[in-house]
Amino acid sequence: MKNRILPVFIPFAGCRQRCVYCSQNSITGHTSTEIVSSAERQIKDYLGISSNWDELAYYGGSFTCLPGALRLKLYSLAHRYGFRKLRFSTSPDCVTHENMAEAAENGVDTVEIGVQSLDGEVLRLNKRPCGAEETIEAMKTVKKHVGKLSAQIMTGMYGENFHSFDATVNALLDVKPDYVRIYPCVVLKDTELYSLWLSGDHIPLPLTETLARCAYAFILFEAAGIEVIRIGLQDAESMKEQIAAGEYHPATGDIVKTIAVAIYLGLGHNPVLDKKYINTAYGYNGYNRSACEGRLEMKDGVKPDLRTVCKRITEVESYKRYIQRQAAFHAQRLVGASDNG
Ligand code: SF4
Repeated sequence: MKNRILPVFIPFAGCRQRCVYCSQNSITGHTSTEIVSSAERQIKDYLGISSNWDELAYYGGSFTCLPGALRLKLYSLAHRYGFRKLRFSTSPDCVTHENMAEAAENGVDTVEIGVQSLDGEVLRLNKRPCGAEETIEAMKTVKKHVGKLSAQIMTGMYGENFHSFDATVNALLDVKPDYVRIYPCVVLKDTELYSLWLSGDHIPLPLTETLARCAYAFILFEAAGIEVIRIGLQDAESMKEQIAAGEYHPATGDIVKTIAVAIYLGLGHNPVLDKKYINTAYGYNGYNRSACEGRLEMKDGVKPDLRTVCKRITEVESYKRYIQRQAAFHAQRLVGASDNG
């Protein structure tokens, strides 16, 4: 059953600097009382919609960079509204053994670390608050104290190339978080990246390359038993208005999974699944339909198993190079096919 998470946004709270791509509204100057009362308002609003929540999440800032007294207020606020299971996102520069032990004591079950990249130069260019070693250490500290580690990474960051993206994926495969989210980096107004784009210093990735990199990472993570819980940005109107450059597709997740199945089919494997899941095999816009012709084995109750699909793909010799090439090929065809309606 789906875990229902009540999201409380504390934008920019605790961030010590501003990463070049980030447009979280600054709350500089806001008192801790204002932060707590804003959080309480959001909790009340969501509880007005539904009382059926499993967990509360503090998102949008760097939770453990907040002063200790404010963190404790936010923990007790969640407890007061009956939440025993919590999660938050934070920045790796503010992760310590002490604040992770405190989080575990207060019911935090998952910590989401904004990793973005594990290439030192990319982190520096994007004004991330710490380097690759410190980020890896922070993730290890989370794993030591808290139940689950989730890592957020980006594709198409300022200064990133396939090599640095691959280094990030490989380093994360070593750390083995429980979950990963993969977001394309788009250029938002009111960010330093916007100025870099205007001056021509930053050229956003074409959509096909974004999709191919996401598919590459998805296949490697899933094959290694790391669950990819999100691929792509939310398709929210408010965010679309903020995007100045950088293509993203609202169905990025579906396209990436379609690419994985296309590669699997291309290797001669035949999907086995219940008839009611046939559209998962056919994929985005029915892209894999003709490749599936006469090859689907229907078995009642068998759900699509993308993890096995990804594992099979990594059994190929020189699989990383193979996935990179195949993902680029299918991304190109899929984008062409959707452009043509
Ligand atoms: S640490 Fe996260 S929330 Fe803070 S400025 Fe950087 S990207 Fe934005």
